[in-house]
Amino acid sequence: MNRFDSQVVLVTGGASGIGRASALAFAAEGARVVVVDMNQELGEETAAQIRHQGSEAVFIEANVSKAIECQNVMQRTLETFGRLDVLFNNAGITRRADVVNTTEQEWDAVMNTNVKSIFLMCKYAVPIMRAQGGGAIVNTASGWGILAGKDAVSYCASKGAVVLLTKAMAIDHGPQKIRVNCVCPGDTDTNMLRDEALQLGQAEMALVEAGIDRPLKRVGTPEDIARAVLFLASDQASFVTGSALIVDGGGLAG
Ligand code: NAD
Repeated sequence: MNRFDSQVVLVTGGASGIGRASALAFAAEGARVVVVDMNQELGEETAAQIRHQGSEAVFIEANVSKAIECQNVMQRTLETFGRLDVLFNNAGITRRADVVNTTEQEWDAVMNTNVKSIFLMCKYAVPIMRAQGGGAIVNTASGWGILAGKDAVSYCASKGAVVLLTKAMAIDHGPQKIRVNCVCPGDTDTNMLRDEALQLGQAEMALVEAGIDRPLKRVGTPEDIARAVLFLASDQASFVTGSALIVDGGGLAG
């Protein structure tokens, strides 16, 4: 018996990094997976790999910061698999700048991708879960949604919003047996971190890779984060809702 047997799991940002690792892990534990992403090539590749491993998966190309595209994703999920048990809202982008150097366009892009997308996906997913008698939602926040970092005002604001959006939805939808939690990763080896390293310069990336600023002395892997996501989405977390689970090798410990 696998933890997600007969369940339908939707992963946004499922083409790459944490989303991709989670989609593969959910499938390995019995789920039928809907991979949602703007990146068609990598999204199709993730779904194909899941099918290659003997599980069911579809890819839906969508920009999850647009209401009409989120509605379409839900409709196609129901047409394909007939239900939705787990929603993993993980798509995200980052911009590294202080408040003076952040453009209005960058602010809107970060807030729309990281926060509005979760509002929209939940707006359309919660009625489905409510009608089914329950479900689990996991959102990707960040360690920088708990404590702020340097030169990342839009990103920190967006991830702080994800933490409280998570808690607010947990209060509203607990009575409907819908649990809502978020995971707060520290530095994790994905395209996002590598792109950021290019912006910051290789010297700083070497520092991050060495992991000297955290007790476990390494950056996270996408699989490290996926294991926490699966826990929060599973019945093992049956009494856990409204939590922000920090998964950062101890970086915020002190
Ligand atoms: P990634 O760049 O590898 O993956 C992000 C995915 O989201 C990409 O496939 C991208 O195409 C997709 N995406 C972006 N905007 C989208 C949109 N509007 N609609 C649909 N898909 C969209 O990065 P990652 O590190 O795996 O990031 C996943 C999540 O983890 C993000 O929310 C990020 O903020 C968070 N996070 C990452 C780290 C880290 O160090 N990598 C740390 C803390 C939090």
